[in-house]
Amino acid sequence: KPEDVVNFAAGPAKLPREVLLEAQVAALNWEGTGIGVMELSHRSKEFDRIQNECIGTLRRLIQIPDNYKVLLLQGGGTGEFAALPLNLTQSSDEVADYFVTGTWSQKSAKEAEKYIKVNYVLPKTSKYIEVPHESKWQLTPEASYVYYCDNETVHGVEFPSIPNVGEGKTLVCDMSSNFLTRPIDVSKYGVIFAGAQKNVGCSGVTIVIIREDLIGKTRKNCPIILDYTVQAGINSLYNTPCTWAVYILGQVLKWVEKQGGVTAMQANSATKSTMVFDVIASSNGFYYLPVAENSRSRVNVPFRVGSEENREKLEAEFLEEASSRGLLQLKGHRSVGGIRASLYNALMPNDVEKLTTFMKEFMEKKK
Ligand code: PMP
Repeated sequence: KPEDVVNFAAGPAKLPREVLLEAQVAALNWEGTGIGVMELSHRSKEFDRIQNECIGTLRRLIQIPDNYKVLLLQGGGTGEFAALPLNLTQSSDEVADYFVTGTWSQKSAKEAEKYIKVNYVLPKTSKYIEVPHESKWQLTPEASYVYYCDNETVHGVEFPSIPNVGEGKTLVCDMSSNFLTRPIDVSKYGVIFAGAQKNVGCSGVTIVIIREDLIGKTRKNCPIILDYTVQAGINSLYNTPCTWAVYILGQVLKWVEKQGGVTAMQANSATKSTMVFDVIASSNGFYYLPVAENSRSRVNVPFRVGSEENREKLEAEFLEEASSRGLLQLKGHRSVGGIRASLYNALMPNDVEKLTTFMKEFMEKKK
């Protein structure tokens, strides 16, 4: 039955059922207007309200200080990889510090290299299994900003807390995959960004939270849709936004608020990830999670099944049997293989229990 399916996708990912049921109605007839959300003009007072309520809810949820602006942009997280150097630096001689802890921060650093000098803070590696200790960090005193990805979606590497990069630095963070899964001290950041399609909505909108003093420094050759100065000046409505994605984002944010806000999400997140970690830890090596304990992600748990010799066969069987039980989209990213369970906000502990029960049964049968 469709209700019994559990979707462990890494994004686009599961959305709260309540939100989707309401969205069905809103798609046809938004608030009794006879017009569906997707059919409203982005210049209408109705859409203005949808957009402003969405931003207002986000401000309440993570107590965004008044000296920060919230932008809702297009171009995905990937768009921000270029937008950041184009908005925060003036010339290609400037340096920014990049922590590369997985695929996404690596892509971001590579994109930034088109526009600035990138200093790699961490020793280069092809195996992303931890956030290396502070003693291995090489920061640049004159860096225009310091960039990190709070949670690496592919490798399952998450910063346990805000990295201590020293006073007065402009800290920039990609929170695409763990946004609103724990409280955020926005005042510690220059810019925070997150694509909506994992924890807070569907694809098509990217949230950018930026401290006001960083606005107004955009390079002249920055594409206008990535221009924070322009977008901040007109409530992110320079051109036609993905109105549906903004609507869904607003509804998911209200849902998070109803669930008890980010502290409730954090508690849920701890419960869910601990359930999976415990099965792995007590499996005597049958399941293997390569990430160091202090850096393992609460939201993307990548793991291997069996030993090196029988891994390929067992993982294929694992995925097939899981799928026959309605446990879907558990395949690891193509670049790393194995299994990946993504445990975003819309997934509940009882959903994860179905996975851990299956993991235990599968192990009993195969070990
Ligand atoms: N950052 C992170 C952490 C991601 O997981 C992703 C996408 N999975 C991106 C950035 C890129 O986002 P998009 O596909 O929206 O450009």
